[in-house]
This record gives sequence, C-alpha cells and structure tokens, in this order.
Amino acid sequence: MSGPSGAGKSSVVEGLAKLLPFHFSVSMTTREARPGEVEGVDYRFVDRRRFQEAVAAGDLVEWAEYGGNLYGTPWDEVTGPRHRGQDVLLDIELVGARNVKHAYPEAIMIFIAPPDLAELERRLRARGDTSDADIARRLEVARLQMAEAPGLFEHLVVNDDLGAAVGQVAGILGVVPDPGGPS
Ligand code: 5GP
Repeated sequence: MSGPSGAGKSSVVEGLAKLLPFHFSVSMTTREARPGEVEGVDYRFVDRRRFQEAVAAGDLVEWAEYGGNLYGTPWDEVTGPRHRGQDVLLDIELVGARNVKHAYPEAIMIFIAPPDLAELERRLRARGDTSDADIARRLEVARLQMAEAPGLFEHLVVNDDLGAAVGQVAGILGVVPDPGGPS
C-alpha cells in the first residue's frame, strides 16, 4: 500500500485490521517519532548510522529516502510472517513499492489517494506536527506520486470517506464487506 502522507493510509490499515488478519510490516526509519507513535509498533526508530549498518548488512528488502529521512523494510518483517502463512501489509512510498513488486511479483499494489491536493494540505496541517517547509515538500512529493501512480499500481482507492475506503481495500483483498461492520 502506498500513497502520499496525509492520504490516510494509517487509518485505512487500522480499519482493515478489524476485517482481516495480516502482519503489518514495521519499517525502520531515521525520522523522529511523532507524538503517540510507539517504537516497534509504528516504526523501528534508529539513527542514520544504525540504518546504514542495516543496509550494508543486507537486512532490508528495500529502502528509500523520503522528506530527508530514510525508510526501509526489514527482511524479517516479511519472511518470518510469510513462512508462518500470514499475509504481509507494507505501507511504503513509491520507490520502495516498485522494488517490492520486483522482489514479489505477486504483491497486490494499492495506491491510496486523497480526494485532491487541497484536502491533503488541510489534513497535513490538521496533524499539527509538521512544519510549513515539510508540508510544502510533502505536497510536492504527493503531486509527483499521484502522477506516477497509475503505471505502478493495480488499484486506486480515493480516501474521501474512511469507511468506504477500508471497504474498497478489503474488497480488493477478497473480503466480502459486512454491512453491519465498522464504517
Ligand atoms: P511518514 O513519515 O509519514 O510515516 O512516512 C513517509 C513515507 O514513507 C510514507 O509514504 C510511507 O509510506 C513511507 N514509508 C514508510 N515506511 C517505509 C519503508 O519501509 N520503505 C519505504 N520505501 N517507504 C516507507
């Protein structure tokens, strides 16, 4: 799963977890934890030296730089669960998504888009923990990603209404939506 930050991927993942079992791949990042984020649950927060060691040791399936920080998927987040027969859900940006598709051609590629860039900006500002410069950078990256997405992703889900977006993703993954379920 990919999409601009502020498109609501984390909320979609949370909603999806109520509908079907999967392992959420916890990425390694050099970004600072945001308020409320938990080490080992949202990310493995590390410094650049530790991240570069992981790259050099071949511990990452893929990695990319985004907004001045490094992000990567540890192999053990993918191989362990897969050996146990679990599906694995990755929330990663486009460069990483392309590399994962290369390593795992069977991967289901879903792009979560905001209704439009104005709404994306509103959501990023509402977060309250992102500077103006960072918001501008993220909006520019979002614009580029939304232009590039159609060639890479098999599915596009516009997250206008969260319940509907979760339902659509569940449908893509083969879950029949429960009308009485979470909305
Ligand atoms: P955020 O800082 O908002 O949590 O994430 C910024 C971007 O990094 C998002 O697009 C997110 O999907 C992406 N990202 C998170 N983890 C990984 C990862 O392991 N690899 C790659 N390539 N991107 C990631």
